[in-house]
Amino acid sequence: MDFLVDKVKDSIYAIAFWDTEWKSYNNCYFVLEEDGVIMIDSCKEEHSNYLLQALHHLGKTADDVKLVLATHGHEDHVEGAQMFKHAKKLIHPKEGEEIRGFDRELSDQGVAGEFDYMLAGYHSPGSVIYYHRPSRILFTGDLLCFFGDPLSEEGLVSEGKELRQAWVDYLKGGGVSTSDLPGFLEALRIPLHFQSEIMCTGHGGVLVGEVNEFMEELVSEAENQLNVETK
Ligand SMILES: [Zn+2]
Ligand SMILES: [Zn+2]
Repeated sequence: MDFLVDKVKDSIYAIAFWDTEWKSYNNCYFVLEEDGVIMIDSCKEEHSNYLLQALHHLGKTADDVKLVLATHGHEDHVEGAQMFKHAKKLIHPKEGEEIRGFDRELSDQGVAGEFDYMLAGYHSPGSVIYYHRPSRILFTGDLLCFFGDPLSEEGLVSEGKELRQAWVDYLKGGGVSTSDLPGFLEALRIPLHFQSEIMCTGHGGVLVGEVNEFMEELVSEAENQLNVETK
């Protein structure tokens, strides 16, 4: 199993597993604090042992994990959380009831510790975007991610110019279907509420810098697509 551990900023780390079955990087994130570790997403169950290795590498154990925030309920984002027995685990109640071990306490907009969050409801009904205020890092889950894409040549955490361009081109090429475009557009506007420096996604590259500029570019491209479709 190949996996990467890279510092995003301060005491925040990205873990990216190469999933040979899905042919994609699957990501999750650790925020190391004095009194424990907060995770954003937790990858698949089969990644659990590697999560422990990554934690160990950072001088922490499974018992140090105090909070797991799920961006949404797909298996590659929640299943690894099962082994963090002492952690509080939060997910939006609109996600599937079969998801075990999570408290379904999130509202449509709120605060969880140093995170602001908002329901995006795109990609899955209860998908949530988190914004970590102290670091100005945005966690988008699979609303906006790089599923199946290679990393930027500059590495996991980088400006990722070519990744950004690939998303714009994907939208231009009609990659998001007409029926999905209105919901996608609405969700794309959520990050504009925040002043993010860095965007961490559910799969692949972590983008550093000009996050809102990137969102605005995507919003305007999605608007173009909608106008084309409705003419
Ligand atoms: Zn997903
Ligand atoms: Zn995913």
